Order: sequence, then structure tokens, then C-alpha cells
Amino acid sequence: MNSLRENKTAEAAVIGGGPAGLVSAIALATAGIDTLIIAPPAKEDFRTTAFLAGSVTALATLGVWDACVAHAAPLTGIRIIDDTRRLWRAPEVSFAAAEIGLEAFGHNIENRHLIAALQDRAAQLKIPRITAPALSVAPDEAGATIRLADAEARVRLVVGADGQHSVCRAAAWIGSNRHAYPQSALTLNLGHARAHRDTATEVHTESGPFTLVPLPGRRSSLVCVLDPERAAALSAMTDAELAIEIERRAHSLFGTMNVERGRGMFALAVETAQSVARNRIALVGEAAHVVPPIGAQGLNLGLRDAATLAEIAADARRRRLDIGSPAVLARYETQRRADVTSRRIAIDLLNRSLLTDFLPVHGARALSLFLIDRIGPLRRALMREGVSPAASQPRLMRGQPL
Ligand SMILES: Cc1cc2nc3c(=O)[nH]c(=O)nc-3n(C[C@H](O)[C@H](O)[C@H](O)COP(=O)(O)OP(=O)(O)OC[C@H]3O[C@@H](n4cnc5c(N)ncnc54)[C@H](O)[C@@H]3O)c2cc1C
Repeated sequence: MNSLRENKTAEAAVIGGGPAGLVSAIALATAGIDTLIIAPPAKEDFRTTAFLAGSVTALATLGVWDACVAHAAPLTGIRIIDDTRRLWRAPEVSFAAAEIGLEAFGHNIENRHLIAALQDRAAQLKIPRITAPALSVAPDEAGATIRLADAEARVRLVVGADGQHSVCRAAAWIGSNRHAYPQSALTLNLGHARAHRDTATEVHTESGPFTLVPLPGRRSSLVCVLDPERAAALSAMTDAELAIEIERRAHSLFGTMNVERGRGMFALAVETAQSVARNRIALVGEAAHVVPPIGAQGLNLGLRDAATLAEIAADARRRRLDIGSPAVLARYETQRRADVTSRRIAIDLLNRSLLTDFLPVHGARALSLFLIDRIGPLRRALMREGVSPAASQPRLMRGQPL
């Protein structure tokens, strides 16, 4: 890592050093594209990411997964429990990866281990990193100029991986549609007395899902979605009080609990950029789409952004085309639209169906889960779509190098 005091040129610059940005930079660099990372050091993130199988394959193909594997737990099962106490409640539904011929749906890993593995791989690939924020991005016909506090960088393609309040999105003149939910997510990791058997447990409540996802050993990560007042009340508890409260909410399925250091609190929203690429700037990760943490979709979408963009840019470069040209960005837009839109709609609908008091919606939700539970081919089709979406299968997700 270095701080820049002189102007720099590269083919591509990735702005943002979160997981979507680091994966983008690694993917572009392994495709032979001269890439620069512009990102201040990321804050320590105690959350975890449940990566679906395609994302794990992509990380393995990029040479990152070997450093993650010791910190990751496989997810061989998913269990959904309706705890809404409403008139029409859904039956408990279980999904097993073996039903669709997989060893695991994916793996869960703490973000701090993931980020460390990505940073190590970026360093191994000698990707230069400027540890300062981008102050502005000015695109023009031939390229884009990125202004930093003490210098400038000039590139052909800017990858905007700068998260929810994206400077890149604004610089590309791309608007976004945002809806804030009356919900917050309390996150923490914990140890527990009973084994999780590599199965994620999602308990649906009237205020949102309460999800325990396996970590290695007798440990799990928790995402507890609540109205903001109750989330704040839980967050104010001591570790011992909180452990008892979580055990109660988990119906003691895992026995006594032991809360670890590193709680987080996140206001939930859904936000979609009106376009994912314009004016030499391509958006990846939460700069392009924010979804609530239901069904582990957010960063999986972000990795498919990164993999798709690198594939298109590598292809353009092989054909000696400008990797930031309108034609390249239009291809990226076309290839990402269906995947991002379909996931957003599905997650938004599921979340709203939990929050609403409208009885027919509870009935429809309960009926859907009942049908999923009873009809094997439907359940298997859903599982396959969840793990490998038909709308997006970039090469990296299939284990093929760029
Ligand atoms: C509670 C919770 C649980 C979740 N669980 C899952 C899960 O299990 N599976 C899953 O797939 N997804 C999950 N997600 C979603 C996932 O966490 C996000 O999709 C992911 O963190 C987004 O990564 P990112 O790199 O796009 O953005 P960020 O992690 O926000 O990174 C953006 C980076 O850009 C930097 N930056 C900002 N402005 C600038 C600038 N001007 N110049 C340079 N750098 C800048 C920031 O410092 C930051 O480091 C979860 C989300 C939440 C809230």
C-alpha cells in the first residue's frame, strides 16, 4: 500500500476497498488489465458473508479461496421456521444441498477474514493501491480523471465499488431508487452449546428474519432484524443478557449462547441504481444495488457484478477495444439488469410479506412455503436458481479463468 504524491495512469481504477472492489481488482488484474485500487483502509467488519456455491468457485478461480477455507463453514442445509404467530402460518421448510447433488449450498465466512485474504491476493498480484479516498471523478470521451487530495489518476475504465453513498454513481450522473424499511439488523457472532450441523436457521418473525448461519466449530453468525427501537434495546444489553435473549429467540435450538466481541447495527433499505454503467464508470456491489440481508444475496450479486465486468473488459481488451467505451458499458448493463432486478424484487416481496398486517399476503406467503415444502421439483428448481441464477453465469462462477 502507498500514498500517492505523483500522478498515475492505468487502464482501470477500482474505487473502494470493500469486498466487491477487491474482487473486481483481482479479477481485472488476473485478466491482464493494468489496474489500480483507490481505497482508504476498510473498517474492521465483524459481519459474515454466506457465499453461494458460484461465488466460492469464483473466489477459488481467482486464487483467494485457499486462504479462506480454514475460516469458512459449509452450508449443507437451510431451515425456515415461521414464528409470526399469525392466523396463517407457513409450515417449517427444510432445504438440503444433497437434494440437488451438491455437497453444500455455499460457505459462511467472517468478512474480516475474507477482506484479509483478498488484500493478500491483491498484494501478491502487485496491484498498486492508493490508500486515500477519491474526491471526484471526471469522465470524458477518452478516459476519466480521478482527483485525490494530493494527485490525480487517469484511466480508461472506473469501477465504482464505493458502497451505498457512491461518489462514482454521482459522477456518472446515475440516479437511484431507495426505500428505507422500518427495520434495523443487529449482527454479532456467538458460540453455542449444541452443534449447528452445518445448517442455517432462518426464523421468520413479524419484524423480520432472525438468522443463524454456521461458522466453523460450535459458532454461528446472527443477523437479527427488528424494528429500530427493539434493536437498540437489544444492543444496549450486556453480553450475558443478550445471550439469554438470543437463546430465547432461537427457541433454545442451539442451547446456551456466548456472545463474542464485535456487534454491528445496520439500518435496512433497498436501493437500485437506475443504470449500472455510464460515462466510463461501471458500478459494482452496493454502489449499484442494496438489498436487505435475507437469503444471503447482497454480496453474491456483487461478486457476479465483478465477474461479469472483468469478463467483458477482458474480452474487449483481447479485441484491442477501449475497455471503458460506451459499447463495453452497454454490454455490462445488459448482462446485469435481469439478475439484479429479479433478486431485488424477490427479496423485497419476502421482506414486505413479513412486515405487512394484510391477511391475504400472509395466506399467500404461507401457501407458497407449503407448496415449496410439498412439491419436490419446485423446491429443487428454487434451490438451483438460488445457487446458480439462470440470469447470470459469468465464466468465473463456472470455474473458468478469464
Ligand atoms: C447485516 C448484513 C448481513 C449481510 N449478509 C450477507 C450475506 O450473508 N451474503 C451476502 O452475499 N451479502 C450479505 N450482505 C450484503 C453485503 O454485506 C454487502 O453486499 C457488501 O458488504 C457490499 O460490499 P461493497 O464492497 O459493495 O461495499 P462496502 O463494503 O460498503 O465497501 C465500500 C468501500 O468503499 C470505500 N469508499 C467509499 N467512498 C470512497 C471514495 N470516495 N474513495 C475510495 N473509497 C471509498 C469505503 O471506505 C468502503 O471500504 C449483508 C449485509 C448486511 C447489512
